[in-house]
Amino acid sequence: MKSGIHPEYNKISAKCACGSEFELGSVNKEINVEICSSCHPFFTGKQKLIDTAGRIEKFNKKYAKHLTKKEKE
Ligand SMILES: [Zn+2]
Repeated sequence: MKSGIHPEYNKISAKCACGSEFELGSVNKEINVEICSSCHPFFTGKQKLIDTAGRIEKFNKKYAKHLTKKEKE
C-alpha cells in the first residue's frame, strides 16, 4: 500500500505549558499544548481547573482528532 494519498504522519514530541513533553503522532512537525496527561484533571483525578474548562475542551477536541484521525469524512 502506498501512502501517497495521506499526509505524512510523524512521531513528534509535543510540549505542554506545564513543561511536560510527550510523543504524539501528528502531521505537524511541532505541537504546543496547554494541558497534557500530567496536568489534565481527567488523568490527575483533580477537578481544580474549573475556570480553564475551555482549555480542557480544546485539549479533548485536539486529542479526539488525533485518535480518530479522519473517521468522519
Ligand atoms: Zn501538562
